[in-house]
Amino acid sequence: MIIVLKPECTDDQIQHVLDRIHELGFTPHISRGVSRTIIGVIGDESKLQAQPLKAIEGVEQVVPIMKAFKLASREFHHEDSIIDIKGIKIGGGHLAMIAGPCAIEGEERLMRIAGLVREAGANILRGGAFKPRTSPYSFQGMGEEGLQILRRVGDHYGMPIVTEVMDPRQVDLVARYTDMFQIGARNMQNFDLLKEVGKTRIPVLLKRGMSATVKDLLMSAEYVLAQGNLKVILCERGVRSFEDSTRNMMDISAVPNCKLQSHLPIIVDPSHATGRPDLIPAMALAGVAAGADGVHIEVHDCPEEALSDGPQALLPKAYAELMVQIRGLAELMHKTIDACQEVAV
Ligand code: PEP
Ligand code: MN
Repeated sequence: MIIVLKPECTDDQIQHVLDRIHELGFTPHISRGVSRTIIGVIGDESKLQAQPLKAIEGVEQVVPIMKAFKLASREFHHEDSIIDIKGIKIGGGHLAMIAGPCAIEGEERLMRIAGLVREAGANILRGGAFKPRTSPYSFQGMGEEGLQILRRVGDHYGMPIVTEVMDPRQVDLVARYTDMFQIGARNMQNFDLLKEVGKTRIPVLLKRGMSATVKDLLMSAEYVLAQGNLKVILCERGVRSFEDSTRNMMDISAVPNCKLQSHLPIIVDPSHATGRPDLIPAMALAGVAAGADGVHIEVHDCPEEALSDGPQALLPKAYAELMVQIRGLAELMHKTIDACQEVAV
């Protein structure tokens, strides 16, 4: 249920509404917009009567939400949410350029790749320390040592970092190092994991599951938001289809589709969506043109030596060429790509 307050509603009246919701055994979430304050009410809607709430002074409208997601909805928060990762903004006209290797493989290599993508214009560094591999015999990631390397390299270049967390038991450990959690496609509906990252206040990059609908994705975001962590960034990374010449099928319509329904930023990941370096640039640009709030790309300086996802890695030079085009498109669309912190490198 969403309670829309009158523009002239006083602080005392707002407090009274919040107290009343608590008394009724529900959890209110307040959203103060430029001209309006809105309260989202979490709980079993069938047990909450709209009429008595409408009678409270200062309340303009009580909207029962039959949609399964509430806090993620546009109705709850009209303006685009802007999420700030250590000075790099995502959403509301700010584009995140996330780049780096699929997996952290060593400090020297990550340092080299990070330096190159930063120079090209990337503003967030990625790298997996815990890898969700299809085969248990494939490289599983460097674990905590990888997190330490990613932290050091990110700090060296003044780049915020994002890395995947695969298990609720890893959340505390990963939280000690990262600026943003990544929830991978395979874990989009790992609800215990979503609740656990929801209890932190660290931003969450939530990837769409390979067989998940847009509604499923928004429902998963709701799990995180319902725990009080409002910093969720959605990611379209392709869904399974009958097409076998690409790794997945990038659903570009998911970008405007999510944006119409939700205030959360959404970025695209053409690397996992296509699995093909020759298709990544076109799909990255298509994503930005469709309104995406950022692009996530895997870059490796020697793909044949990569321990994970080598065949889909973009070479640093190709990434730099693509960034020139993305910057041009961003300018045309009046979007900003925030620069990393200045550091002596
Ligand atoms: C990754 O980002 O390396 C990854 C495993 O992504 P996804 O969960 O989208 O497959
Ligand atoms: Mn990967």
